[in-house]
Amino acid sequence: MITLKGAEVSAKIKEQTAEMLKQCGGRIPKLAIVRVGENPDDLSYERGAVKKMAAFGLSAEVYAYPADIDDEAFKAEFQKINGDPEVDGILLLRPLPKQIHEREIERMIDPEKDLDGISPENIAKVFAGDSSGYAPCTAEAVVETLKAFEIPISGKRAVIVGRSMVVGKPLSMLLLKENATVTICHTRTVNLKETCRNAEILVAAAGRAKMLDKESVGKDAVVIDVGINVDENGKLCGDVDFETLEGTASMATPVPGGIGAVTTAVLAKHLVMAAAGKVPRKG
Ligand code: NDP
Repeated sequence: MITLKGAEVSAKIKEQTAEMLKQCGGRIPKLAIVRVGENPDDLSYERGAVKKMAAFGLSAEVYAYPADIDDEAFKAEFQKINGDPEVDGILLLRPLPKQIHEREIERMIDPEKDLDGISPENIAKVFAGDSSGYAPCTAEAVVETLKAFEIPISGKRAVIVGRSMVVGKPLSMLLLKENATVTICHTRTVNLKETCRNAEILVAAAGRAKMLDKESVGKDAVVIDVGINVDENGKLCGDVDFETLEGTASMATPVPGGIGAVTTAVLAKHLVMAAAGKVPRKG
């Protein structure tokens, strides 16, 4: 079985962004990372994003607010960042605390700075198959990974476990645009194992440590593991029990070292696109 390493995909994306960066006229694109509270998952994502921006020669500034900031005060702060001409793109770490109306922030964010595809405008474009907006970075990272390793998508049976707006749903649309035949599974799916076993491309995005093993993977399937979980020994792991796949899957992404690294690379690419004034990808 071939291990699909995220670092290799990230390096390819870096090459593409380096070309585009030349069109920014010597200006260093700036990412605003907006965080409320100190959620460990947010802090870990933030560290990864800051590191990746630096590795790509881009700048990142963290705008952190206390967990108990009220809705009005947060909106006022967010609007300042949103309107700041020095800020090319925004990554909002979510979910936000309950007192903040997340839906309203999604509607406030400037679609041209919405690098992680949370605004209604960008989401609508993903669902309409119009690639002139920003798709959620993790969903796009899955497609970038398949393409980077030249894994055919067209006509393939793709099964996605998970239907969130961050990963599962937008990914289903991106794979459909690539002409895959897509099935989406969730907690009410009957015969999950059988459905997964029928996949030629299996994407796990459920957030359940090692919930899928070789019993759920068809012979020669390509397995993409989006999940980031902690196992019973406190170690980082995916939704797939990677160790069991040898002899079943043809290729698989590991956790850590897989899609996570590609997600931040896609974020960096989106930032450079925003700064270069590019219409991201013509539909
Ligand atoms: P959510 O909790 O929002 O969604 C999980 C989805 O998985 C839901 O649709 C849920 O179904 C489904 N699901 C959960 N358990 C099962 C099960 N036992 N059987 C079938 N379906 C199930 O999670 P996210 O989409 O936000 O994230 C998913 C995973 O991806 C997490 O581990 C997260 O940490 C990781 N992630 C990784 C990123 C990266 O950069 N690599 C970025 C973003 C997320 P239902 O709708 O029925 O509840």
